[in-house]
Amino acid sequence: MVCVQYMILSPGIDRNENFAKLAGGYLFPEIGRRRNAYLEENPEMADRIISLGIGDTTMPIPPHILNGLVEGAKRLGTQEGYIGYGPEQGQAALREKIASVLYNDLIDPSEVYVSDGAKCDIMRVQQMFGPKVISAVQDPSYPVYVDTSVMMGQTGNQDPETMQYDNIVYMKCGPENGFFPDYANLPRADVVYLCSPNNPTGAAATKEQLTGIVKLCKERGSILVFDAAYAPFIRSKDVPKSIFEIEGAKDCAIEVNSFSKYAGFTGVRLGWTVVPAGLKYSDGSLVRDDFNRVMTTAFNGASCIVQAGGLACLDEEGQKEISELIDYYLENAKVLRDTFEELGYPVHGGVDAPYIFVELDGSSWDAFNMILEKAQVVTIPGAGFGPGGEGFLRLSAFAPRASILEACERLKVTMKKD
Ligand SMILES: *Cc1c(COP(=O)(O)O)cnc(C)c1O
Repeated sequence: MVCVQYMILSPGIDRNENFAKLAGGYLFPEIGRRRNAYLEENPEMADRIISLGIGDTTMPIPPHILNGLVEGAKRLGTQEGYIGYGPEQGQAALREKIASVLYNDLIDPSEVYVSDGAKCDIMRVQQMFGPKVISAVQDPSYPVYVDTSVMMGQTGNQDPETMQYDNIVYMKCGPENGFFPDYANLPRADVVYLCSPNNPTGAAATKEQLTGIVKLCKERGSILVFDAAYAPFIRSKDVPKSIFEIEGAKDCAIEVNSFSKYAGFTGVRLGWTVVPAGLKYSDGSLVRDDFNRVMTTAFNGASCIVQAGGLACLDEEGQKEISELIDYYLENAKVLRDTFEELGYPVHGGVDAPYIFVELDGSSWDAFNMILEKAQVVTIPGAGFGPGGEGFLRLSAFAPRASILEACERLKVTMKKD
């Protein structure tokens, strides 16, 4: 009898209409779906598949950093070392080290909010801003900015022709503008998302470019959300690693960041967000008070084990290990670059970033399918990152060297121009 009652009660909740607006699916699962569909039809190819698609790291966590994680876990098994809930904003020692080692004390430790990753923080930033803001995104861009804007209800529907959502400002980024948005000539947005070094284009913004957009955001009263998840990949001079290297940024910018892509922490989960102490809303209230509220209400602080790993990342030995991992991935990027350049394709990125962005002669999904079928290499079609990515292909350098070399040999055949 009780069962019958539950069955009657279960349906009848309307779906959140914002979720119904989301396109097909999140991009990376869609890539996986196509790869699996190909393998279902061609099971003999399973051993041949090389993934240069989703930007997931493949090299193991280096020993000193790993030891930080292990020791962090071990302390929990001792009476003296055991800790329960920690500060929701992160442990003081880690916030201090992030401020000093990664920002040369340009920011105060109290402005650092340690988290379980940059993607999660982007959603938290969105929850804080709410449904009424207008967001601007680079086109193409990392899909999370658009998808979280849609989930929050900031947008209208996606136009089936332009593939753009109503009420989002798309800032075209292509070779014509050095992959940097021309925000001055676009409608004003409340929140501007900017990623440098960029995923997917691999472009790293210069000091001059960032100075320009900070000035514009201040003039137009926009908050700049700067995604610096790839900052340590920057090896060129005069390319800022943080938006806070730019004068005036503390009046308009928030920075989201992550250990994922260079410490091998994609599965470990550790990131942080910097919210400047003086950053204010139009009514004079402090942005950081609201961000703190999100962190304390809906997050309870990053794992203490993982924060111990983060501390190990930031001491001298950890920094050295990270630098070596980045060297390895950047050398992969160079091999990929050289391959496509030799084939005669214009190649972007791959210098201060682990991604290369190849200019194709035709459609990006066609190239993706062709390369999967003929070379068994998984890439990502630029169009998956927004309409502005059509005609480009993103390749990730986060693979073992042997896979990169093998993939390049196959691509030299498959991608040969007539
Ligand atoms: C991978 C990636 C992230 C996600 O980082 P996590 O800390 O693993 O959540 C954020 N931003 C960009 C641009 C990324 O490519």
